[in-house]
Amino acid sequence: MSRPKAKTSKITKPLKTTRKKRCIQTLRGMRDIIPSDQKYWRYLIKICEEYAQSYGFEPITTPILEERALFERSIGQGTDIVEKELFSFCDLGGDNIALRPELTASICRAYIEHGMVNLPKPLKLYEIGPMFRYDRPQSGRYREFHQLSAETIGSPEPIIDAEVIALSYSIFKALSIPVVAQVNSIGSQETGKIYRKQLLNFYKGKERQICLTCKKRLKTNPMRVLDCKMKMCQELSEETPQIIDCLDPESKTHFMKVLEYLDRFDLPYTLNSRIVRGLDYYNRTTFEIWPEKEAGRKASALGGGGRYDSLIEDLGGRPTPACGVALGLERILAFLRAKQPDKIFSSDSYDLYLAHLSELSTKKIMKYFDELRQAGFRVAYNLAKNDLRSQLEAANKLKVKYTLILGQKEIIDETLIIRDMENGIQETVAGQKIVIEMKKRLFQN
Ligand code: AMP
Repeated sequence: MSRPKAKTSKITKPLKTTRKKRCIQTLRGMRDIIPSDQKYWRYLIKICEEYAQSYGFEPITTPILEERALFERSIGQGTDIVEKELFSFCDLGGDNIALRPELTASICRAYIEHGMVNLPKPLKLYEIGPMFRYDRPQSGRYREFHQLSAETIGSPEPIIDAEVIALSYSIFKALSIPVVAQVNSIGSQETGKIYRKQLLNFYKGKERQICLTCKKRLKTNPMRVLDCKMKMCQELSEETPQIIDCLDPESKTHFMKVLEYLDRFDLPYTLNSRIVRGLDYYNRTTFEIWPEKEAGRKASALGGGGRYDSLIEDLGGRPTPACGVALGLERILAFLRAKQPDKIFSSDSYDLYLAHLSELSTKKIMKYFDELRQAGFRVAYNLAKNDLRSQLEAANKLKVKYTLILGQKEIIDETLIIRDMENGIQETVAGQKIVIEMKKRLFQN
């Protein structure tokens, strides 16, 4: 049988490639914060920083990469975060390192490493930055996400627990997002041991009524079964014994005081015995911040935290009680985008638009731009455009109050036209007086 002849002509000719190159996209579970989201994002970060600082928290910045052992020893080896979700690898020097999945451990490491033990207590530290967890991406759950973490180190007092919850409430109030704190106490390590036994007894013979992951959790970290999002597991967990009934007397008193403070601060809360948190280092108070409207079992928390009195000692420091909160910024951002009217954010983006009508005005426009910017105005302009209509449209979109127009005549006369964008009234002023004129209009009422 003869073989079909190869079509040599096409092979020998250089290939004309018309095929498009593959577009590289963000990694699964990672997101860009694109310019249209930035106004919300920056506003959110500004509010978080303002409130953290007004509650007396000082900023700290820790590295994104840490020794893997830091998370194994703090969050715990049997936890989902460490067992399944750590982005970890050996670096070129052979060290086992990990991208941080949360901030509490890093902040405590820094506290010990830099001898902050000698600073006045309680020491309040906050950090905002990216976290990494190799979780299954879905709405509100990413592989890279950001948190505000606020940690109070060095006080065992219940008022501190109430204060970190109060900080969370203040932030959500400033963002106009109604929330409810779900609070619980998991007591001491001893309580945990007793409760785990009770849980295991409860689930004995009921293994077929829970999901596969929870079956494994019963062996590694039984309390995690209570956090499971699967319907079958949630239904059964309604009948489990309550951890609050196992509390040791000191933890009980501590918890009652936390609730008293929350009442005193007028902060609403729901007692929720299922808030046990999946990390090993927590003791006593644990809480989550849920959006008010979704305050059901399936709510996706906007934040969470609690007390961790033995973590610093476990990491090699002196025994130091502490308590903190972490807010998830992406989830809050989604609320902000959905709820807030655009103008709240865009109205303070720019004060002025500088419009120009010819190539010749480029140099002059830069001079005015510098002058106005140095005087404190936020000025928008677009050198690529020189027809007035499209520049006025752009100015309208940015919702600026005034557009300054620089045409041929104005360059020669050394003047500028001030156009009031609300009523279209225009006035010509001397170029040297532009800063004074604009201050009069924008800052003096
Ligand atoms: P956690 O450290 O798990 O207690 O999380 C604190 C907060 O961070 C949560 O309440 C969420 O708002 C947010 N968060 C946790 N994991 C993720 C994730 N994978 N993607 C987005 N936000 C998250």
